[in-house]
Amino acid sequence: MKKTYLFTPGPTQIPPEVVLAEASPMIHHRTSEFSEIFSNVSEDLKYIFQTREGEVFTFASSGTGGMEACVVNSMSRGDKAIVVSGGKFGERWSQICETYGVSVVKIDVENGKAVDPDVLDDTIRKEKDVRAVFVTLSETSTGVVHDIEGIAKVVKGHNLLLVVDGISGIGVHPLLMDDWGIDIAVTGSQKGFMLPPGLAFVCVAQSAWESIEKSDLPKYYWSFKKMRKALSNKTTAYTPAITLIMAAGKSIEMIKSEGIENVWARHARLAHATREGMKALGLELFAGDASSNVLTSVKIPVGVNFDAGIKKLRDETGVTIAGGQDELKGKIFRVGHMGYVNDFDVVLSMSAVEKILHENGYKIELGKGVSKVQELLVG
Ligand SMILES: *Cc1c(COP(=O)(O)O)cnc(C)c1O
Repeated sequence: MKKTYLFTPGPTQIPPEVVLAEASPMIHHRTSEFSEIFSNVSEDLKYIFQTREGEVFTFASSGTGGMEACVVNSMSRGDKAIVVSGGKFGERWSQICETYGVSVVKIDVENGKAVDPDVLDDTIRKEKDVRAVFVTLSETSTGVVHDIEGIAKVVKGHNLLLVVDGISGIGVHPLLMDDWGIDIAVTGSQKGFMLPPGLAFVCVAQSAWESIEKSDLPKYYWSFKKMRKALSNKTTAYTPAITLIMAAGKSIEMIKSEGIENVWARHARLAHATREGMKALGLELFAGDASSNVLTSVKIPVGVNFDAGIKKLRDETGVTIAGGQDELKGKIFRVGHMGYVNDFDVVLSMSAVEKILHENGYKIELGKGVSKVQELLVG
């Protein structure tokens, strides 16, 4: 018997209430019924982004579509942008910018490290005519969380546009759109939101509109101006992902009733227990002090065929954790603990890690990680 447990850094597990909401009978989107659902979701999303001033647009797309929307709406031909790249998703900002002819100055942060805001400050000073800075809240490929508050201070000091990929980080780590002065932030449904893949949420602050009005990059579906006009009429420009938006209504209601500060605190606690459990097993955290609360990335001990273990575990038991991507394949593994996750999920994922290690030639005392996790969560 297989029972599915997703401890991958997206997609993530979905509460039954949310699954049921998504299974609602289809309704037409040009109705007052849908308008009410959609305007409630759009309002509630502001709470998740911690904004009063900003507007949140909902696209039917994966997170990357939302990232592309950020670039094509805020940049113009020949603009220069600084991209903080410390992994696959930071790199994605560069690729999207370059696709549209935005010239990119990359800050290459070593994998597993967070960017030093002072380095960003120096780079901005050195480069002339930078218009925007693109960063990642939680770099899911390496398990690093970047100091967006510190970065925002630097960027605002130079009066530049700040665009944040919060696709795995928002709803897990604090991100205060208004208080920190972020211009645009994007997230996706399948990470901390306890939703299936398929929605991208983009929060646009008032401060971003000057650049958006000026932007001359090609766009049609992704136009923020069209989205804004439609939103003012409580609808979307094109056919929305109706039942996903209904599901979002349910999941955001759950986040609201827990309270976003409590949601952040829960993730911090579960992530801490996971990190300490890994250390108790003698493993080394890949992201060290910069470890994100979204997922824990861990160095694979020499000689252990961990990736084969991941596959076997998934095939035989339905428990899924993730390996490394690209150049980190075979070097790290990643355990997600975001969204619909509680104490016992963390016990379970730790036990799965122990099983893989045990079956693949790494000497451990079985239960050592689990007992550390128990100690921290029960105590
Ligand atoms: C998952 C993720 C993405 C990509 O999102 P898709 O939904 O796969 O397009 C981008 N950035 C970060 C930080 C992510 O975690």
